[in-house]
Amino acid sequence: MEVQFTEQIQQLQLGAGATFHGEGILAITKAVLQAGVAYIGGYQGAPVSHLLDVMVQARPYVDTLGVHVEACSNEASAAAMLGASIHYPLRGAVTWKSIVGTNVAADALANLASPGVVGGALIVLGADYGEGASVVQERTQAFAMKSTLVLIDPRPELANMVRLVEHAFALSEASNMPAMLELRIRACHVRGSFVAKDNVAPKVSTRHLMDEPAGFDYMRLSHPPVTFRHEKLKVEERVPAAQRYIAEHRLNETFDGPRGEVGLVVQGGVTNALIRALQQMGMADDQGASRLPIHVLNVTYPLVPGELSAFCAGRRAVLVLEEGSPEYIEKDLLQILHRQDLNTALHGKDLLPQTGEYTVEAITPGLVAFVERYLPDLDVEPARRWLADNAARRAAVAQALGALPPRPPGFCVGCPERPVFAALKLAQAEVGRVHVAADIGCHSFATFEPFSSGHSILGYGMSLASRAGVSPMMQRRTIAVMGDGGFWHNGLLTGVQAALFNGDDAVLIIMKNGYTSATGTQDILSTPDDEAKAEAERNAALHQSLAHKNQTIEGTLQGMGVAWLRVVYTYEVDQMRRTVQEALTTSFDGLKVIVAEGECQLERQRRLKPWVAGRLKRGERVERVKYGVDEDVCSGDHACIRLSGCPTLTLKDNPDPLRVDPVATVIDGCVGCGLCGANAHAATLCPSFYRAEVVRHPRWTERLWSAWQAAVSSLLRPATSASTR
Ligand code: SF4
Ligand code: SF4
Repeated sequence: MEVQFTEQIQQLQLGAGATFHGEGILAITKAVLQAGVAYIGGYQGAPVSHLLDVMVQARPYVDTLGVHVEACSNEASAAAMLGASIHYPLRGAVTWKSIVGTNVAADALANLASPGVVGGALIVLGADYGEGASVVQERTQAFAMKSTLVLIDPRPELANMVRLVEHAFALSEASNMPAMLELRIRACHVRGSFVAKDNVAPKVSTRHLMDEPAGFDYMRLSHPPVTFRHEKLKVEERVPAAQRYIAEHRLNETFDGPRGEVGLVVQGGVTNALIRALQQMGMADDQGASRLPIHVLNVTYPLVPGELSAFCAGRRAVLVLEEGSPEYIEKDLLQILHRQDLNTALHGKDLLPQTGEYTVEAITPGLVAFVERYLPDLDVEPARRWLADNAARRAAVAQALGALPPRPPGFCVGCPERPVFAALKLAQAEVGRVHVAADIGCHSFATFEPFSSGHSILGYGMSLASRAGVSPMMQRRTIAVMGDGGFWHNGLLTGVQAALFNGDDAVLIIMKNGYTSATGTQDILSTPDDEAKAEAERNAALHQSLAHKNQTIEGTLQGMGVAWLRVVYTYEVDQMRRTVQEALTTSFDGLKVIVAEGECQLERQRRLKPWVAGRLKRGERVERVKYGVDEDVCSGDHACIRLSGCPTLTLKDNPDPLRVDPVATVIDGCVGCGLCGANAHAATLCPSFYRAEVVRHPRWTERLWSAWQAAVSSLLRPATSASTR
């Protein structure tokens, strides 16, 4: 990973009394160190990748505290790491993206929560929910409830978030329940400040080792018969202990307001949207003080019945703002009110959206309906006007712009995975259409145009496994596509091992771009080492020839018994096409693996840009390859665009007044990956593409050669024109 977190690491080292300024996710990272954590792990994913990325780079510093940092191979291994807190008074924090990561970690989580922990265990979750989310839309609350884990959903304000992280460890220790803290995208990126404390070096650490392992204690195993006892402990002791801690330390917050006949109960993470909606309605001031009392659930599991009934008692009605489905909190609150014999009317999903993100605009109509019903003296006209104005503005914009073309996300300029899908398209033109099992990762961009490739996505590293029921039913072979990130995360065992064991006749393409690119280009086992990268810079300069020195994937596959294995450089489209065709038609009956080799262009450019800038500054020679289209030759059929989808290969008006079709053109930004040329060759397109080498600070011989070429050209040009005439 070429991104440097120098500034963030300095922020992590702030001492007591200093003011931390920055984003929510970094504040959480700092809070974890202030809480005396002994070990940190996780698997990257939006929106919490930053925590682990920063910690991995901060290893030299956290090592001085005796804190161990582990980049785990997947979420299951991260959850299993928390097993350290079952026996030992070690505070541990791990992180991943929910809900998908929690699904992967579910087994370890359940087996962690059953015996419980003695050292505080915290899982920092990225709640990837709502607009812009990249995963299935489900709630983490269900996991907290089923496995009896504390779920903290902090009001997004830095001091509050830091306070809750520190309490999370103590709460976990007081209740023996592992705790989860979920952060929505806005909570991760909210900016603010808080007064820092000193980081705490844990008592037991990599610098102060334990002399002996814990004694044998069957109760610490999640094994029958003690699992039956664990279940009772959860209900009879742990949840009540957690509820006591939450109430005694006021983890949830109540904000009074003058209109006490009603109240609002809100998940902590949705509080800012609620306040903004109240402001739009004229029911909260600029500082966020609301006229309606609000009970903020910074902890959404377990709920504290006494707190909730105290808040609801004496009010005519309460509205619960609970994002996502199903409405667990609302139903629990209904039960609490019923058992307490309180006749407060309860509203929630009857007035608010059942699904989707609770943005300000999404919750305002529900709030308006609630206020109209119970506080008819309040004027809701400002809110209605605001909603109507928004709708009118949208309609006017839509009318002014007309129908906009869809802009699906796509591969980066020069991505090494794009050529593979061009080859796949060409191979299918020969062999016939095949079932393509897609996966999680950048290659899933191929599900959009111009490739529209992929029949299903079952999870990270699951593509090969997901075709197991399809291939035996299909006349043609199926193809599974997987990234190297997915291969190490899950695919190696879930897919490859199963396919080999069952002797499946399957084709697997592994995109070996060197990193888990889609989550932020984190390193993996098969990431090229620094020496390989330096060599690429020395020898290959700006061309695409970083052959990964690390052959771990190939070696692993061979070691497992994969007998049909091809490694193909992705930008060689014709070679890739031929290899795919061979895999689909060969008489070899078994698993066929194509390793598609080509470094992630994003990471490559991050490395090359400062290197190039340095050379230019020193006046050294720099060569840049760029592709272009000869507009006089371009036939205007745009087959090249349908085979590429590169954002820098686009259209422009035809300069020939006698031709109406726009011509293809390569705009600035082309990184010279070579796909344009390779596609033209593999698909026998029109010969309009040219390759140019732009040389800065050329050698004297190059200057001389260039001058000679220019002279010859100028001599030939009038002659050519004359002959044309
Ligand atoms: S991040 Fe890397 S692998 Fe992903 S689309 Fe961009 S260049 Fe391709
Ligand atoms: S060579 Fe073609 S595909 Fe590659 S970056 Fe340039 S325009 Fe895009």
